[in-house]
Amino acid sequence: MNDFILKQPKDSFFRKQFESLSCENICCDYENEDPLFEDEYKVTPFLIHRYKNRVLLLTTKFCSAYCRHCFRKSILPQLKTPQFDDYLEAAKYVREHLEVEEILFSGGDPLILLPEELLEVLKLFNFKNRFLKFRICTRVPVVNPYLVSEKMLSIFDSFGNGRVRFSIQINHSDELTSEFRDIVKRIRKRGYEVLSQTVLLRGINDSLEVLEKLYVDFFEMGISPYYLFQGDLAKKTKCYRTSIKDSLDLFNALKKKLPESYLPVFALDLPNGGGKVPVREPYFLGMDKSYAFFKNSEDIEKESNKKAVKKIDLNKIKHKGKSIENKFDGKIYKYPIE
Ligand code: SF4
Repeated sequence: MNDFILKQPKDSFFRKQFESLSCENICCDYENEDPLFEDEYKVTPFLIHRYKNRVLLLTTKFCSAYCRHCFRKSILPQLKTPQFDDYLEAAKYVREHLEVEEILFSGGDPLILLPEELLEVLKLFNFKNRFLKFRICTRVPVVNPYLVSEKMLSIFDSFGNGRVRFSIQINHSDELTSEFRDIVKRIRKRGYEVLSQTVLLRGINDSLEVLEKLYVDFFEMGISPYYLFQGDLAKKTKCYRTSIKDSLDLFNALKKKLPESYLPVFALDLPNGGGKVPVREPYFLGMDKSYAFFKNSEDIEKESNKKAVKKIDLNKIKHKGKSIENKFDGKIYKYPIE
């Protein structure tokens, strides 16, 4: 925990996200150190190309604070520190792949770099005659707001309008400190969009009241609701994760409470590198007692000109003695229900 987090009240839901629980010792067989299979999609040592139109750069190997639910806390220490040549190699790849439209500067956290260091990295991806969008994936404005200086924000101005967006993980209204609110105002005043990414966390934000307040707060602050994520199947994180069934019930209840414009997309990352999908049709196929079943985006796209994928009627399947897995063509991803 850094000094800013240590300043927060001991019982705040902000601080609790950084305290490890004894149940962290439990590891389930479906959990993985690299639950998104990022290693498989690495095209250079620090660049991940999982989706056709965007890439993710591991800009640093450090975060300003390490969230207990996140898989990166155990992966990052294994990385070497990226050097200028590593950024150059990543930029060369992007230059040669014209299908890439957006770069996610993630990490670790890109905003722990010095402004001049980050500017040097961004400049490598500023190609002539090509409009690449930059998404700054960060938690620094929440966990260490004093690092977000005017000098830091000004470096983004040199890349023109409509190009830079900030994607910030915020899980509870306790994180909306006066320091963070001030940063959001300054970012928005400069013309950049702020997107929220929220992870559903057991005992932190898994209640309707907490989520409702959070999304009302986002609306009032001008933060776009973007994704509400089911926790990743990261190693030793079961005690921080909500069950998929509870998460779905919660999200359905939230939909009844808030206008559509306040709502995020409820999504998850499929096991075995299946990628990110919204938890809804046509990706979400149904559940049985042990698993929720999904198809991934690529397969759905392939099938779009073939038969429509319908939601499973579990009773009918049981009656016919068929399992969910042989009901559909193509690959089915199983997400454990517990
Ligand atoms: S959620 Fe972000 S800030 Fe937290 S450990 Fe993961 S990468 Fe670092």
